Amino acid sequence: MKKIAIIGAGIAGVTCAHECMKKGHDVTLFDKSRGVSGRSTTKRWDELSGIGIDMGVPYIEDTHITNISKSFINELIDNKVLSLWPLTIHSKGSVITVKTWVGSPKMSHIARHLAQDIRLISTHKIDKISFNNSWALHAQNNVFEGFDMLIMAIPATQVLDINGVPSDIHELAQSITYGAINTMLIEMKSPLWFGNYEEDRVDGPIIQTVIADYLKPNRVLKRFTYVVHSQSGWATKRFDELNKAEVTDIIRDSLLTHYNRTPDLILNTLTHRWKYAKLMGPSDSLQRGYIKSLEAPIMACGDWCHGHTLMSAIESGYLLAHNID
Ligand SMILES: Cc1cc2nc3c(=O)[nH]c(=O)nc-3n(C[C@H](O)[C@H](O)[C@H](O)COP(=O)(O)OP(=O)(O)OC[C@H]3O[C@@H](n4cnc5c(N)ncnc54)[C@H](O)[C@@H]3O)c2cc1C
Repeated sequence: MKKIAIIGAGIAGVTCAHECMKKGHDVTLFDKSRGVSGRSTTKRWDELSGIGIDMGVPYIEDTHITNISKSFINELIDNKVLSLWPLTIHSKGSVITVKTWVGSPKMSHIARHLAQDIRLISTHKIDKISFNNSWALHAQNNVFEGFDMLIMAIPATQVLDINGVPSDIHELAQSITYGAINTMLIEMKSPLWFGNYEEDRVDGPIIQTVIADYLKPNRVLKRFTYVVHSQSGWATKRFDELNKAEVTDIIRDSLLTHYNRTPDLILNTLTHRWKYAKLMGPSDSLQRGYIKSLEAPIMACGDWCHGHTLMSAIESGYLLAHNID
């Protein structure tokens, strides 16, 4: 049994924590946010109804599930954490159906379920780590000590922000680049489209795709809530140049023009700017699924260690947990 600290409670971190705990390790999760889920989060839309809108990854594509994770995913399905969503997509004038899975009742529930029995220290951003027979983690004025093993389950760019990371992991993290996505959650008085599909791949200069979140399974209230994901190229190029209000105006105007709607039909909007949304360039050396330092008992997992999807992050956390000496 090892005493393990995991920095990052996104889907990779919680998968890894869940599997480590099953193997009998003593696990503590650290996250700078208020809760678990990272980029697979759901935004609470209003306090009264408790309605949520999935703000990051919208669903898991069935084709992304490989033999590595099949039994893990089946367990989530058996526990009703994942629901099947036969998603109909409108793209370039035709409509296709894709087999997908969504968190039930919302995407963030996947991470919540996996982390439910695990000690979580939230709202603590780890800015320094040090090893002297055991690991110490520093966050503002707090130090957490006595860990045999340290696992970093955070985006590569955020690994670079932490002092004390061994040079072999630091170098690999430096080779990774991410693209941004601007996401707008929007509630309308009436539907944006009347066609029989749930996602519209707009593929315009600003908007990449629009998802009718209210049509996902297990959404109790039928309110016309949509998630608009911007083009990553546009968001990345103009990330530092535009502020949140400007991004909101550009996406909203683009949406209204595309669907020929007037502003009075909008009930509410919320914009979130993801600086490190999508992995752009993993190097080939990272393809084994996780990273193990040769300098100290520290490992890393996350989408950047295995691919560029939610499933890569899950598999990376899973593989790491099953390869701890
Ligand atoms: C808008 C958007 C759309 C997407 N669409 C898709 C899609 O269609 N299909 C798909 O497969 N994937 C998609 N993705 C990507 C998918 O969400 C990610 O690949 C996956 O969620 C990554 O999980 P992770 O655990 O590796 O990282 P993250 O979810 O980023 O988790 C990292 C965690 O670490 C925490 N953290 C970071 N630094 C520190 C620190 N110093 N101290 C403490 N905590 C820290 C963060 O708060 C976060 O909770 C999308 C992502 C976004 C944002």
